[in-house]
Amino acid sequence: MKKILFLFSLLVIFQTCRPDNGIGSEAGVYDVDPVFEPYVQEFIAEGAKRGKTIDFSDSGLIVEFSDVQLAGANGRCYLGQHHVEIDKSRWFSFSEDVRGFLLFHELGHCELDRLHRNDKFGNEAWKSIMRGDPLEGIEIWMPIPFFGFRKDYFTDELFNEQIGLPDWANQTFAYAEVPASAKEVVKSAENTDRINQRFTELTEDYELEIDFSLLGAGTTSVIKLIWGTTTNHYYIQIFPGLPAYRVSGYFIGVHQDNQDNGLFFNQNISNINGAPLNKITIRREGGFEKIFMNEQFIYHIDLQKTPLASVRVEATTPQDALDNAFDIQRFEARKIN
Ligand SMILES: [Zn+2]
Repeated sequence: MKKILFLFSLLVIFQTCRPDNGIGSEAGVYDVDPVFEPYVQEFIAEGAKRGKTIDFSDSGLIVEFSDVQLAGANGRCYLGQHHVEIDKSRWFSFSEDVRGFLLFHELGHCELDRLHRNDKFGNEAWKSIMRGDPLEGIEIWMPIPFFGFRKDYFTDELFNEQIGLPDWANQTFAYAEVPASAKEVVKSAENTDRINQRFTELTEDYELEIDFSLLGAGTTSVIKLIWGTTTNHYYIQIFPGLPAYRVSGYFIGVHQDNQDNGLFFNQNISNINGAPLNKITIRREGGFEKIFMNEQFIYHIDLQKTPLASVRVEATTPQDALDNAFDIQRFEARKIN
């Protein structure tokens, strides 16, 4: 349960970084805490790749931990100045990708004079890592997928707001693309409330498929599907009920550096391909891991770096106990040949 709460607090605080007017760096003073130096250097290098010369020798730059907790924010940039403050109490709980995202966002304010940009494209995805206050309604739950193959686009957009849409914005795959004849079942289960399976045989392309009944909207339990290894994996987390988090829907995310990081959120679990969410297919094929719900394509992510070692599907109560009312009618793991 702690993990779930943290995921949500993370998502909530993500949006609250805000530029502020205040005391700036003295012109020419470069004072970056060594903790942040690699990210500043990466920012300079990514700018250079895109023909932007980032040079702090004239403007100076201060990046430091704030003395006090920043109210509701992970970081803050003093606009028009070159001074970034990062909340120390949160920094050390972030994964590498989130740390990079945070620094790039703040330097976007401070060095590139960018303001927040909150428009979206495609399947309700943010256009920019500069998204931020003010956010409305479910927007606070929508993560920025600064991860994997999507990172390049977000970095391009950071340095050039006019950049066109990335190829992946409208990319789609058909469930029927891979015929049944190409699939070979290696493990299966029926009528259970939980899947907890280890694998050694799925070293190449594979497909995982579960048919299940969504818990009723009154539930406080959370359904979670994870696949990968214990320490690094992807997850789908479904909130069928409203009470705990004020929103129902599902997240797709990545677990790395001991942290769950959301990549995608969608509210719709009640009508996907004409039915409530009752089937999830994870297909590793064609250089991606593709996620289908009710045989409709939803999202694709980079291949995981290590072979599939485990798959877990279960529903847990707020007390972190298994919810035996969760009904998995069928689970199959298949090799794709
Ligand atoms: Zn901001």
